[in-house]
Amino acid sequence: MIVCCKCAHSIEGIASCCPQCGWQAPQIDGFVAFAPDLAHEGGGFHADAFERLYAQENRHFWFRVRNDVILTLLHQFSATMKSFFEIGCGTGYVMNAVAQHFPHTKIFGGELFVNGLHFAAQRIPTAEFMQIDARYMPFDAEFSVIGMFDVLEHIAEDTLVLQSAYTALQPGGFLICSVPQHQWLWSNVDDYAKHQRRYQRGELEQKTRDAGFTVLRSTSFNSLLLPVMFISRLLQRKQMSSPDGMGEFNISPLVNRVCEWILRIELWFIKRGINFPVGGSRIIIVQK
Ligand SMILES: [Zn+2]
Repeated sequence: MIVCCKCAHSIEGIASCCPQCGWQAPQIDGFVAFAPDLAHEGGGFHADAFERLYAQENRHFWFRVRNDVILTLLHQFSATMKSFFEIGCGTGYVMNAVAQHFPHTKIFGGELFVNGLHFAAQRIPTAEFMQIDARYMPFDAEFSVIGMFDVLEHIAEDTLVLQSAYTALQPGGFLICSVPQHQWLWSNVDDYAKHQRRYQRGELEQKTRDAGFTVLRSTSFNSLLLPVMFISRLLQRKQMSSPDGMGEFNISPLVNRVCEWILRIELWFIKRGINFPVGGSRIIIVQK
């Protein structure tokens, strides 16, 4: 159910009036806003980065293969999901792929920054969007699956987000989540991206267990490229090159293709149930 932000009574739709107290979520630029004070200056992300992301995601190896890993896990664990809610949906690159692969699933997107929602709503006109603070979501047993892809590391209170996601899921529902991994990979890319942390091995699993979830699958990802990533970040630390942190987007088409080819080898193993112990990212699927 959707919960009234004022009196906690159940309300019918995200844009509906509360039948108990009459409260109704305000709207910003046509989007229902559950955290209007944070819609433009919420911190944790450069809101103007959405335009660059929107232009780059379609061809950048990292976003392309990450989508296929996400789709693989969704097909394996929740192929018949009725609803999918992406928290921190950004420009909607992941949601769009989910909407195409699961045409019978009702798709919802939540994002703190209204800037991102404009791009996402263009991409997936059939989905329902809202501006939302992931720490305090007005849902109780509402969704079959929740996704959060490289979102938790931006939020100081990540455990609050996991608790809120647990409450928002139906019993038996799934949370699928990716985060950057290994603190020793920290560089100015993380500083620029306003990351609060890179996760230690086992940290995300423990935090989801603490929120009440059962861990079904956990693997590192971006493992075969780890040596390249480590050296590149070591050099960045020394030279302080690409101070805007967007250098990882500016790669040649050839390098992009080679990296995609390498990550597709990983995908092949992940599809067959093999988990990688170390890697630039961790992706897990857990169940309520
Ligand atoms: Zn109310």
